[in-house]
Amino acid sequence: MEDNDNCPFCQIVAGKRDADIVYANETLVAFKDIHPHAPVHVLIVPRKHIRSVNDLTLADGEIVAAMFGKAPEIAQKMGVARSGYRLAVNVERGAGQIIFHLHLHLLGGWR
Ligand code: 5GP
Ligand code: ZN
Repeated sequence: MEDNDNCPFCQIVAGKRDADIVYANETLVAFKDIHPHAPVHVLIVPRKHIRSVNDLTLADGEIVAAMFGKAPEIAQKMGVARSGYRLAVNVERGAGQIIFHLHLHLLGGWR
């Protein structure tokens, strides 16, 4: 699996950088955002380094399915499944993407 030494999320996936991991399996790692934009703010990150949605191919279908497919379980674990949560993906700089390793934001916990 491609590993980008300069990529902070590859470093977290590889255990070389600290993160508050809330869920992990063979395909993805989910951890708390270091600068949360909501009471609950988790990043769902594939282990594979993919720059952005623009770089996805059909061969990555299982990865995308896992990112969305595991979101309800992670939301449940974080206590926001019933109250509701937002899933968001920023694609490239103009949309606010600052980490160029694909990730899904899971936000929730507002009163
Ligand atoms: P983007 O704007 O690229 O969609 O989101 C990247 C997110 O990653 C930001 O919300 C930022 O706070 C978070 N982030 C950046 N570096 C780190 C890090 O080293 N650890 C953690 N946990 N989150 C990070
Ligand atoms: Zn990466």
